[in-house]
Amino acid sequence: MLRNKSFVKRTRKGNIVRTVKEHYLRDDIACGYEKCTSKVCENARKEAEDQGKTTANGINLAAPLSASPRTAVEWGPHYLVPDTNAFVNQIDIFERPIINNVIVLSTVLDELRGLSMAVYNRVRVIIKDSERRWFVFSNEHHRETFIDRQTSESPNDRNDRAIRVAVKWLCKHLVGSSITPILVTNDENNIRKACEDGVNVCRMEGFLKIYSEHPELFDMMGSVSINDRNSADPGWSGYPEYLTPVQIQAGLNSGMFLQGTLQIAPYNYLEGSIYTEFPDGKERRVLILGRKDMNRAIQGDKVVIQILPKSSWRVAPSTALVDEDEDIVPDVSEKSGTTDTTSIVPDTGANSEESRKRARLSQKSTANKAQEKKSGVTIVGSDSSEQDEKSQPEPEPIKPADVGDDLSEGEPTGRVVGIVRRNWRSYCVFLDPNFMHKGVRTSNAPVSVSVLAMDRRIPKIKIRTRQLDILSGQRFVVAVDSWPKESRYPLGHFVRALGDAGDKATETEVLLLEHDVPFQPFTQNVRSDLPAEGEKWIFNPVRDQVSSGRRRDLRDINVCSIDPPGCTDIDDALHAVELPNGNFQVGVHIADVTNFVKPNTAMDKEAAYRSTTVYLVDRRIDMLPELLGTNLCSLRANVDRLAFSCIWELDPEANIVDVTFHKSVIHSKASLTYEAAQNRIDDPSMTDAITNSIRSLNMLAKKLRKRRMEAGALTLSSPEVRFRLENDSQDPVDVEMKALKETNALVEEFMLLANISVAGKIYQHFPDSALLRRHPEPPAQNFDNLQHALKPLGIQLETGSSLALAQSLDRAVLPSDPYFNNLLRILTTRCMMQAQYFCSGTCTPEEFRHYGLATQIYTHFTSPIRRYADVMVHRLLHASIDRDAVYGSELTDKTKMNEQCEILNHRHRMAQQAGRSSVELYTNLFFKGKTVEEFGYVTQVLQNGFSVLIPSYGIEGIVYTASKDNTKDPAALEYEKESHTLTSPDKKSTIGLFNRVQVILKVDDKPVSANVSSMRRKLSLQLVEPQIPRLSISFDELKALRAAASATKQNEQDEEKIVEAVTKHPEQIRNV
Ligand SMILES: [Zn+2]
Repeated sequence: MLRNKSFVKRTRKGNIVRTVKEHYLRDDIACGYEKCTSKVCENARKEAEDQGKTTANGINLAAPLSASPRTAVEWGPHYLVPDTNAFVNQIDIFERPIINNVIVLSTVLDELRGLSMAVYNRVRVIIKDSERRWFVFSNEHHRETFIDRQTSESPNDRNDRAIRVAVKWLCKHLVGSSITPILVTNDENNIRKACEDGVNVCRMEGFLKIYSEHPELFDMMGSVSINDRNSADPGWSGYPEYLTPVQIQAGLNSGMFLQGTLQIAPYNYLEGSIYTEFPDGKERRVLILGRKDMNRAIQGDKVVIQILPKSSWRVAPSTALVDEDEDIVPDVSEKSGTTDTTSIVPDTGANSEESRKRARLSQKSTANKAQEKKSGVTIVGSDSSEQDEKSQPEPEPIKPADVGDDLSEGEPTGRVVGIVRRNWRSYCVFLDPNFMHKGVRTSNAPVSVSVLAMDRRIPKIKIRTRQLDILSGQRFVVAVDSWPKESRYPLGHFVRALGDAGDKATETEVLLLEHDVPFQPFTQNVRSDLPAEGEKWIFNPVRDQVSSGRRRDLRDINVCSIDPPGCTDIDDALHAVELPNGNFQVGVHIADVTNFVKPNTAMDKEAAYRSTTVYLVDRRIDMLPELLGTNLCSLRANVDRLAFSCIWELDPEANIVDVTFHKSVIHSKASLTYEAAQNRIDDPSMTDAITNSIRSLNMLAKKLRKRRMEAGALTLSSPEVRFRLENDSQDPVDVEMKALKETNALVEEFMLLANISVAGKIYQHFPDSALLRRHPEPPAQNFDNLQHALKPLGIQLETGSSLALAQSLDRAVLPSDPYFNNLLRILTTRCMMQAQYFCSGTCTPEEFRHYGLATQIYTHFTSPIRRYADVMVHRLLHASIDRDAVYGSELTDKTKMNEQCEILNHRHRMAQQAGRSSVELYTNLFFKGKTVEEFGYVTQVLQNGFSVLIPSYGIEGIVYTASKDNTKDPAALEYEKESHTLTSPDKKSTIGLFNRVQVILKVDDKPVSANVSSMRRKLSLQLVEPQIPRLSISFDELKALRAAASATKQNEQDEEKIVEAVTKHPEQIRNV
């Protein structure tokens, strides 16, 4: 850090004075030791006492350092005085609650502020926690510890010296106390000089020896500070060096290089790609295949790439299933520098030899082989070609400008030459089960092991640990520190343990962490923004501006809400009344969340950060505190609630005659479930106002729907799973598909209408900064594989427009299979692009289009309790209709709006995936120990496997065709590009999309640490029909399994006490 010539000085009265060159030094700075007998220190304690600066536990905040700190053999009782780098590199360790009695020098704090605000803030948080007994010693202002910089001295050297001087002074000052301050640093120069000065000093490793009963601390050491010389891998020739920033910039400027964000295929960590704009202005995908060409980039890193010669491009787009556990070169254990009788060796022997062979086979597709023959160059799809590498001449890369649209020679393929920005985060991991623990451990010396991330796109990570026995079978968090080019894998360190794999609470935390879902309880700061009346809050006509006319009183209207059973966060309510002119007044009333959530308050910022409520099978993680979400904002029946109303006049054909928007107060007359609303419609004896209102809504909704379909709106589909949870244990005991009711469609129709009307209004008023939602048209090639598979069935999808697609989907019916059309819609959905939020000023109006809904403009207005986008839209709408509405730059700043859109898109994607993972977790719990035989459909064909959707449970699993258990080598089925199928060598058996198959479902209940697939909690599927040699389950095995299955069924029938579903997934359609 550069030292300023100006200093900040706090006067005794507490004023802050900035003085230039004048540095006030004081004699009254205390040392922080709670029993110090020096006059100055006693006075400071007394003063703090008088001012009430003591904690309930009797800690004096002016002298928090304990008289009985931790004792070490070498130093006796001591205080730690870390230097700046110790904090920067090892903050995870210092955050552990057991690290108490630490002296933070003001020199160190100042340096930290300059080096890393993040670490600085984390240190401040610890200091604030009085129980930790950390103390800031203002050595820069102490007459006896302040030093001037010498002319020959660099600012860094001066600070290092200031730190040594301070420690030496503290040492002298505390001499009567028998407590020793110890400088903690890993800087060799500093260590040497400290020894010369007679200052007590130790390295991080040394101080952790004091905490030997906490081996996890050692594991948490950033590997940067560990001697990495041993991490080189004998079978590994190293990664290419990154280009220099200057070279990269020159390459980007000349159009030779491209940049983009690396995305790794979900099933194959060796297959990456970036989407990037080419010099011709078109966005294209560039594949980046294999470890070498990814060159140490990890999922999400922003990379700079170079396009490889066409001979290296890949032709087949289908993905092979590759798990990191199939990694072919065993990681040789590192001999740690210390005397270490324990060693970790990979499970050698037949198994790994076999797996090596298999992996090679599975990674070489037929397409790749053909390519090899043609070009003579080995395809880089796998690392198995490493040995040939040296003999290959360095191919001449090509200019991105020369990449045309002719992809007959394959897709553009590139390699990473530099990293723009790392996207490393903490990863949830487990120990690599391929490492077997051999030999007796006689010491707890650290060993190097590799860990596998729950996220299959992340490479193995190497860490050093002393807790091998503890970590086995556990989930834990690691952080990545570095990835030197000599090391095959990134190097990281242990952060914290999460718990046993397979444990529901642990797995739920894992999925929240892995999907970046903020799930901590709301802070006091956020809660203080809630209405002071709490649950007692009631509508007040004066405060809520009904008296002043800015809010309309709609309490006499017969409004009701219709939701899934058990819904407590009711965002929306509706009404319809026939008007004297024969038209209808229809109202959609949405919770007025922005009345309670004001811009830039702590609560608003938290909601913006969370962006969405996350729904898991057994819990909901709210975007807003419960008081608002399920009470004050929730449009419950029989209470006055504030709303934002969208009111149309519709003619009997459901054409919009007029639309107005109002802040309002409503009094809902009924909270109905879909089923209850449906029953009212169907029961002719019911003629009350609410029922008539629902009937009118239903009549109009059908017309709206019909028109929407005629305009080309798509009816897409996704398999939905629902669990019934057993009352007490919350273990799932039954899964079933959800059914869609007419009334569900009714609500959907009016929510869409409201969103469309609001989108038009806010765009009209804020053409540059309206928050809208678009759904881009999918490129035709997204449907290639699907079209291939449909051809033999005599079906073709028209993908020219959404209307053409919708109509061809309607026609695609197989009389022999009633499920076929639904299956086709599920697969079509997967060809779609993702809908996304955007700021209107960043796109042309043509790009606004929502393809799936076939509407020119769209936004989200109807769920402000659970989506932050809707909160923003409410503010925009209010500003659009109320001339007196006060708003700030949050509604007009295009850049900020765009940034918020990116956060919203990220969080929404993550929330959806977290929901799916939660379903997967419960599916596995449901099937654990069970064996179930079911039929399913092939939904995806890959190079060495295929996925199967089981309609009766709505779940999907994978059947591997190149086996994973050593018995079916070579592959029973091989991928054929032409037909996009898997075919047996004798050509007698073929598996393709839409094939109906019979499978056995089961979840391993072996000890979870035994293998990777059980640690990854995968559902395993075994093929029963068709019978394919060396792949399908044998008749004898099947007989035994069937017998076992019928036994389980018998047991299940005895089970009682099944309660109705607890799942409250919001209906999929409301999320369009
Ligand atoms: Zn003292």
